[in-house]
Amino acid sequence: MSETEAAARLAAVRLVTVQAAIARAAALAGRPADAIELVAVSKTRTPQEIAPLIAAGHRSFGENRVQEAEAKWPALRAATPGLRLHLVGQLQSNKAEAAVRLFDAIHALDRPSLLTALAAAMAKTGRRPDCYVQVNIGEEPQKGGCAIADLPALLDAAVAAGLPVAGLMAVPPADTEAAPYFALLAKLARRHDLAALSMGMSGDYETAAMLGATCVRVGTALFGDRG
Ligand SMILES: *Cc1c(COP(=O)(O)O)cnc(C)c1O
Repeated sequence: MSETEAAARLAAVRLVTVQAAIARAAALAGRPADAIELVAVSKTRTPQEIAPLIAAGHRSFGENRVQEAEAKWPALRAATPGLRLHLVGQLQSNKAEAAVRLFDAIHALDRPSLLTALAAAMAKTGRRPDCYVQVNIGEEPQKGGCAIADLPALLDAAVAAGLPVAGLMAVPPADTEAAPYFALLAKLARRHDLAALSMGMSGDYETAAMLGATCVRVGTALFGDRG
């Protein structure tokens, strides 16, 4: 077996394994598995590492840096129609236009200045990627995301600006049980009538799927450890 064949098989096995785990978690919670989009977080991965997942049929990917994504994805997209690209990292306002041009979903709306920049970029480009408001769900000072107390005002402003707000996104504090934070994010989304919930990573995506995630962001479980 060639190295390329081995990489293709490994990618396919990892993909099926994660998909099966999502389906199992969804079934336990009485949710349809197709209510959960699996976003393969491909930050730091080369096009050569990404290609086997695309070949295995996967179409939804996530990046955390606009410049890195601009370097990698136009060529991959030209080769495979129907790819969906999510921005899962923090976004600087001066990159809002580039992000709106490239991504189908932006999981990083966390402050009024970025909201203004995104609205301007959408008006200019005519593109309307789904926006997720990132919530600092553990109230960690060093972490991005809007404070829980500021969420109602930010959502009101986003609606007033005509942004397509799909839902909420969060990364719970590291090294603690994630479930209470997922449950809290789900409660906030219900309170604001938002359908989409972007939560869950390699270590906890099954828990997130049980607690209402509509989008899980999985890197290492699909690509292996980051070098
Ligand atoms: C890197 C990253 C992920 C994926 O993390 P893994 O633990 O590798 O699955 C998910 N969400 C965000 C915001 C990330 O930056």
